[in-house]
Amino acid sequence: MQQGNTDALKDRIQQLKKQRNAVILAHNYQIGEVQDIADFVGDSLDLSHRAAEADAETIVFCGVHFMAESAAMLAPEKTVLLPEALADCPLANMVTGPQLKKVRQRYPGVPVVTYINSTAEVKAESDICCTSANAIEVVNSLREERVLFVPDKNLGGYVSRFTSKEVILWHGYCITHHRVTLRDIEKARRDHPGAPIIVHPECPPEVSINADQVLSTGGMVDFVARTGEKKLVIGTEVGLLYRLKKENPEKEFYLLSPGLLCPNMKYTTLHKVAHALEHMETVISVPEEIRKEAVVSLARMLEVR
Ligand code: SF4
Repeated sequence: MQQGNTDALKDRIQQLKKQRNAVILAHNYQIGEVQDIADFVGDSLDLSHRAAEADAETIVFCGVHFMAESAAMLAPEKTVLLPEALADCPLANMVTGPQLKKVRQRYPGVPVVTYINSTAEVKAESDICCTSANAIEVVNSLREERVLFVPDKNLGGYVSRFTSKEVILWHGYCITHHRVTLRDIEKARRDHPGAPIIVHPECPPEVSINADQVLSTGGMVDFVARTGEKKLVIGTEVGLLYRLKKENPEKEFYLLSPGLLCPNMKYTTLHKVAHALEHMETVISVPEEIRKEAVVSLARMLEVR
């Protein structure tokens, strides 16, 4: 897009934002232009809190469907818009509410810990939610000696290394992070000797075990800001590198694997944000009976720390 057109579109978005009394939230994996026009950039939980606290009537959530749903659950009095209705998370769709309901009958008394990357219907069937930042603390906070961890087997497997509890894994995975291999780690060690390799816990176990740090996206942002290292290899979705470079212009970042691109996170464009505000679509809402159950498992997570 030409610079003049981009500037005009950004101006239009600012006007519409005022008219609609809106706030724009963008996930760390969004394209750079979208991150630049957002009021807040962060991970899904951060942004849900921003949505709840925002002094606005309309929330434009630049991310994927389950994130907009979480915002709609935590801010039910606000209108939550997803600029691209097809932006969905394949990991979240690897478990459904009815599937979880059926499987949990096989494990009476075993609490279900559900990663925030899940649908509202699944959260409603769960005992407690977690994020990639607090999953270990959440599991260790439970009294029971066994937990069913849903839906990401890589995050659940990572947690199992830091708890004495038995973690029963669902079979889901993030199709983007699951593509990273041990060979990517070996290649990065050769190509960038001495540079720390930081990966997301959604990566497969052989990758997490051989990385220098395993962190959530928020953890990566904090680590990079604090470290004296000047070159870092980043093992999460490529969109985060835009933010890392912007906030740390003196440092160099290398993507661990070319496969670290989530197509669903790239659907949202400036045009779609403007269109969403202009036409007030697509509105994301959660039926009240599901919302009531799902917010309980979110609230339990928030009590952990
Ligand atoms: Fe889902 Fe993975 Fe894409 Fe995140 S990066 S939205 S977990 S598929």
